[in-house]
Amino acid sequence: MIRLSDVTYTYPQSKEPAVKKISLTIRKKEFIAIMGRNGSGKSTLARLINGLLMPDLGEVTVDGLSSLKPENLVEIRKRVGLLFPDPDSQLLSNLVEEEIAFGPENLGLNPIEIGKRVDTALKMVSMEDYAPYLLSGGQKQKLCIASLLAMQPAYLVLDEPFSMLEPRGRKDLLSLLLTIRRDFNITLILITHNLEDAIQADQIIMMN
Ligand code: ADP
Ligand code: MG
Repeated sequence: MIRLSDVTYTYPQSKEPAVKKISLTIRKKEFIAIMGRNGSGKSTLARLINGLLMPDLGEVTVDGLSSLKPENLVEIRKRVGLLFPDPDSQLLSNLVEEEIAFGPENLGLNPIEIGKRVDTALKMVSMEDYAPYLLSGGQKQKLCIASLLAMQPAYLVLDEPFSMLEPRGRKDLLSLLLTIRRDFNITLILITHNLEDAIQADQIIMMN
C-alpha cells in the first residue's frame, strides 16, 4: 500500500508549492489513473511516490517504508518503478539486453539471475523477437517497461507514457500494461490526459 498524508512539496527555486497537502491511499493490485491539467503537480506526485523527491511536510510511505528515512530509499525505488513520458530520456544503452540488465546489475544480482530476469522481462512485454536496432517509439516504451519489470517492482508509475505514441500504439501499450497488472499482480498508477483510458481504472485521482 502507498500512503500519502498531507504531503506538501516546493521546488528549491519556487515560491509556490508544486503539490499542497495531498492525502491518498493506493492499495496493492489497484489500477489508479491520475488526471489534471498541465502544471497541476502530477509528475511531482509521481516523483514523490517513488522517492525521487521527499516531502517538505507530511509523509509518503510505500508498504510502510517512509521516504523521509534515507535508508529506505533504495528499497522504495526498487518497489516503485517510474516510467517517464519520453523513452529516449531514460534509455541508457543501445543494446536491449544490456538496457534491461542495468537495474538488476546495480542490485548486485549474479549473472545467471540477471540473465533470467532479462529473458522474463522481454517475454512480459512480448519483445522476444525484437529487432535490436531502429526501435519504434512504442517498442522503446516497452523496453523501458521491461527494464522496470526486471527490478520486480510491486508498483509501476507511468507518467503520460502514451504522449509520444500514435492512437494505435497507445491502445496496444495500455492493454499490455493491463495484462501485466493482471498476470503479475502489479499495481498500476497511470498519469494520463485520456478519459477513455482513465475510466478503466479502479480510482481516478484528479489533481487541481
Ligand atoms: P504536471 O506533471 O501536472 O504538468 P508538474 O508536477 O510537472 O505538473 O509541475 C507542478 C508545478 O511545479 C508547476 O508549477 C511546475 O512549473 C513546477 N515544477 C515542475 N518541475 C519543476 C522543477 N524541476 N523545478 C521547479 N519547478 C518545477
Ligand atoms: Mg507532468
